[in-house]
Amino acid sequence: MSADLHLHTRFSDGTFTPEELVVAAQQQELTALALTDHDTMEGCPATAAACAAAGIEFLPGIELTSEQNGRELHILGYGLAMHQAPLQQALAKFQAARQQRIRDIVARLKELNVTLDADAVLAQANCRAPGRPHVARALVTAGACATMDEAFERWLKQHRPAWVPKYRITAADAIELIHQAGGAAVLAHPALNRADPLIPGLVEAGLDGIECFHTQHSANVSRRYVALANRLGVLITGGSDCHGLNKGIPHIGTVRLPLVYFEKLKDRIAERRARLPSGSSS
Ligand code: AMP
Ligand code: ZN
Ligand code: FE
Ligand code: FE
Repeated sequence: MSADLHLHTRFSDGTFTPEELVVAAQQQELTALALTDHDTMEGCPATAAACAAAGIEFLPGIELTSEQNGRELHILGYGLAMHQAPLQQALAKFQAARQQRIRDIVARLKELNVTLDADAVLAQANCRAPGRPHVARALVTAGACATMDEAFERWLKQHRPAWVPKYRITAADAIELIHQAGGAAVLAHPALNRADPLIPGLVEAGLDGIECFHTQHSANVSRRYVALANRLGVLITGGSDCHGLNKGIPHIGTVRLPLVYFEKLKDRIAERRARLPSGSSS
């Protein structure tokens, strides 16, 4: 009886369709899952339908890119009313910026004599929230490098010549956006972003929880975040951050959050939803 609350599909930079993701979740005998694509909730309806057919409990979610004190932080939102207009407007902005960023990266590459067709990269990505993995894949397909890792190492990661910063809002604004849509806000994989000094401030800004369990958190690191979450009085969550085959192997099933934490998260979402003005909860 366990949940995976951090998963990606083709609607952002994962490789699984919602249906493939749910088959993998079934194989891993997960009881519940949340979809948390980057900057989009478009995959949620299909994932909800596939989960319903498979008898898996589904929670709609999102992973927003934010920044606090010059540091990139990823804020997970759970249980948001996905059709709410302010949320949709904010997401449209994120998505337009992501598409433009792909064009900017391709232009940088061209200056380095590495030629890709931006329209073709976007057509191949075939989603509103494309990211660097789509460019990396196109570079491999074009024969410019052998692996996606090499594409990141040579061109795409920060401090490399084709790196382009991503549009991002402050973490406090991301938390506010999630709350205004009736969702709960959770700091994703804090160890990956060396976020610890910022956590008390985020809790003051209304952060509901910390993703203590993550594929890249060791058992010791997870224990430390559980203790911190308890000390700060915030929720404990966890997920595999599965991107299908984009990170070598699908990580789904490597993190198994006990359902007791999932139940507490749902209680928090119910509290947040209860504060929404009537008529804006779908
Ligand atoms: P973006 O959202 O465009 O900044 O891209 C971030 C995504 O690229 C995340 O899913 C990262 O895990 C992924 N990523 C970063 N480095 C690599 C790499 N070396 N190989 C494959 N994916 C990577
Ligand atoms: Zn991703
Ligand atoms: Fe992330
Ligand atoms: Fe993620």
